[in-house]
Amino acid sequence: MNSVENNDQWQPCPSGTLAEVAQQVSHRRRQVAKRRLGLVVLSICLLVIGFGFWQSNAQTISCSSAYAMLDDYIHERLDAEQVRAVKRHLASCEKCRRAYESMQQRAAFGGLSRIWQVLGILSSSATSDRLQS
Ligand SMILES: [Zn+2]
Repeated sequence: MNSVENNDQWQPCPSGTLAEVAQQVSHRRRQVAKRRLGLVVLSICLLVIGFGFWQSNAQTISCSSAYAMLDDYIHERLDAEQVRAVKRHLASCEKCRRAYESMQQRAAFGGLSRIWQVLGILSSSATSDRLQS
């Protein structure tokens, strides 16, 4: 390891070589910066898409799922997440909202008719006839 020997192997650069090297380094830096920017943009896109999927899964349930849960929703037999899902669906779906209101009225009438039955005001046959209509 002799530094003098190594120094002897060095030769002066031809003119313009340093400027060329500086240009290449600068070009590579720009390429790296572009790749980094691309990666950041790609990551943001993936995050946005992932968040969109997560939100759509969390927020929307199908009409058939919502309809299947309506009875349990009215009688408060769903967990908090299911309640949120049904509420969100009802807020955005006119058809299911109407079905819910109709089921709610029937449930309320059913509850009232049971009270009336207990009080002897209505006979059970009259109540069931009204429930079916
Ligand atoms: Zn619906």
